[in-house]
Amino acid sequence: MTSATVTWIAYCRGGFEEEAAADLRRLAAVLDVAIDVEVVAAKAIVVARGHPDELHRLSDGLTHAPPVFARSLFVGSDALALPGFTEGGSRADRVTPLHAVIAARRDDGDGPWQSIWVEYPDTNDGKALSPLARTLERRLDATLRAAGALTTDATLRLHVLLTSGTQAFVGTSDDPERSAWPLGIPRLRMPGSAPSRSTLKLAEAFAVLLDNADRAALRPGLHAVDLGAAPGGWTWQLARRGLKVTAVDNGPLKGSVAADPLVTHLREDGLRWRPRRAVDWLVCDIVEQPRRIAEMIGHWIADGATRRAIFNLKLPMKKRYDEVRRCESRIAEIIDAAGLHHTLRVRQLYHDREEVTAFVKRVD
Ligand code: SAM
Repeated sequence: MTSATVTWIAYCRGGFEEEAAADLRRLAAVLDVAIDVEVVAAKAIVVARGHPDELHRLSDGLTHAPPVFARSLFVGSDALALPGFTEGGSRADRVTPLHAVIAARRDDGDGPWQSIWVEYPDTNDGKALSPLARTLERRLDATLRAAGALTTDATLRLHVLLTSGTQAFVGTSDDPERSAWPLGIPRLRMPGSAPSRSTLKLAEAFAVLLDNADRAALRPGLHAVDLGAAPGGWTWQLARRGLKVTAVDNGPLKGSVAADPLVTHLREDGLRWRPRRAVDWLVCDIVEQPRRIAEMIGHWIADGATRRAIFNLKLPMKKRYDEVRRCESRIAEIIDAAGLHHTLRVRQLYHDREEVTAFVKRVD
């Protein structure tokens, strides 16, 4: 495959490159295309090379093989070498070679684009590239805008990914493969009154895993159960939206949620406890074997105890990808056996560490 000039470039959490590579292999299998996957020099990035025509079909496969660990994807070309430092030690001009590559794309009929993002891997080395990325983005944006190459009604986004100060990938992304945020990192501010940082995990799950209709179902008057609720970060997100929350945990709730009239705290075993009546939402952040959580969530849906559940699967084991796939299968098996239909989306969110977050919904 040495003649290949098209690549898929995926962003992931550092240390999860093998899992993101597995995402790309699964996608390639669904599309029936041959790819070579490579974890490139920079961490938190995975690159797959294949035949140009085939790799452009990326989005066709995403509904059948949605990535779990690849946060965002774009279709690009081979890595571009950028000049380093000049003899005097100052930064060489990197705008000109990047602009030449982008101009060649326009000559080939690509563009106009909605916007240009200059990004870098989500690692400490990557963050050191952020000042360079900002400067390049400002300059390329101005040049392309002046040339009419960026327009608000376009759908494709142009990406420049700096993997070092002297190497970049250039490409484009469309929905659904791309993230709505640069580097696939949502900008969420830690709410001052929330009792734990894990509140951001549920806020991100709402932003990334739910569509508008599901988000609209997070409304006052509905009832949610939060299993493994303490100290209350997830409960805080639900109560803030006006939902009544049954927070199940032997540990104490802290901060404002502890006295919130919308919150009922039960000191029970969340793995066994069930509500008397069906609830609108279930959320679960219990630290337990992923398969046990998957089993429990499958039964909540299959038994009609809830229609929607957001839950976290902790992945301290080596074969993390296989474990996620096994959990997906087990949930499907349990719900199918009840004669019900569901959708299930599993993602490693930016705020997830050694874990993934999932949203399952009954759809009939
Ligand atoms: N989501 C919470 C937040 O935002 O503040 C953090 C949850 S913390 C990661 C996990 C919680 O699960 C702990 O408070 C622990 O007490 C609780 N837990 C563990 N096993 C449990 C069980 N069987 N039933 C209920 N809670 C459990």
